[in-house]
Amino acid sequence: MERLLADVPDFPAEGVVFKDVTPLLADPEAFALVVDALADAGRDADGRVVVDRVVGMEARGFLFGTPVAQRLGVGFAPVRKAGKLPRAVHEVDYALEYGTATLALHEDAVRPGERVLVLDDVLATGGTAAATRTLVERCGGVVAGYAFLLELTFLPGRAQLGEADVLVLSEV
Ligand code: IMP
Repeated sequence: MERLLADVPDFPAEGVVFKDVTPLLADPEAFALVVDALADAGRDADGRVVVDRVVGMEARGFLFGTPVAQRLGVGFAPVRKAGKLPRAVHEVDYALEYGTATLALHEDAVRPGERVLVLDDVLATGGTAAATRTLVERCGGVVAGYAFLLELTFLPGRAQLGEADVLVLSEV
């Protein structure tokens, strides 16, 4: 896995080591294994699917979230930056290192009572995942679990995620 997540120093800003997932996407066998492993977050110990929907965050959450939803046989809903989704949305502001950003989810993307698997490539500070949980809850859904390719364990992201199960395939 480490081989397929390339470290890019000083991107997008000096001092940041960016994890580039594109080598993994370029390797069909490794990509399929990763999608299978992430999909396990939507199943119980007997292999039964226990989520109704996968929600993935712009942009790399789309790359992994859509095939995971297909594997599980459930729908996918995208969380996008403000102004990108065409219909009525819920919006949530969240803190970035400098300033704030806004994420949006179509109001009808998650139905009341649905159990949602939230999926993204990297868990860093947890701000994106926490904002996504708020969006799911505004729709009336429940976050049943989270799945990430990679957790940056030197950041306190996990503390933002509450009680739901968290599956992480790799840690740095
Ligand atoms: P957080 O909100 O600080 O947890 O950051 C997570 C979001 O930033 C995710 O949507 C990631 O795609 C993105 N992100 C943060 N660090 C990296 C990285 O090193 N590589 C790829 N994406 C990253």
